[in-house]
Amino acid sequence: MGPSARDAVADGEDQTGETPLLAVLESWTEAVVDERGLTPVRRDVSSMVTLLTRHLPWVCEREWVRDFEEEIRELLKVTQKITMTEPVRQMLRGVTCPSCSMLSLVRYHPGDWAAECLNCPSQRFDERDFKSLVMAQARGLERVNP
Ligand SMILES: [Zn+2]
Repeated sequence: MGPSARDAVADGEDQTGETPLLAVLESWTEAVVDERGLTPVRRDVSSMVTLLTRHLPWVCEREWVRDFEEEIRELLKVTQKITMTEPVRQMLRGVTCPSCSMLSLVRYHPGDWAAECLNCPSQRFDERDFKSLVMAQARGLERVNP
């Protein structure tokens, strides 16, 4: 389990949801500062995110990195909900998944992947692979319907 806030969390607008944004950032910042013997930073989002980002390679080598990743991912989701910047899912019509043969390819805006399958977690395509897939399936259709 990850570190928990040692001090009472001050009441604030961002502390009312399921994930208290500042408390999560504070606990991870404190963990990094303590374990690395660093000078504590101000407890504002920008200072804490800057510190955590700077020490990310070190964080990735810790045994608690999985908890860190889960909690920061949750923060991202909450933040995207609050700021209405959640990724939008778009169905990619006319192209089937090479694994399950379903019309289940989607892409998310914004997102790192050009396409992925809703049924097959391993089926992900970057832009170049997706274009090749579209071309290959278009050629296949030409052969069926000349
Ligand atoms: Zn599939």
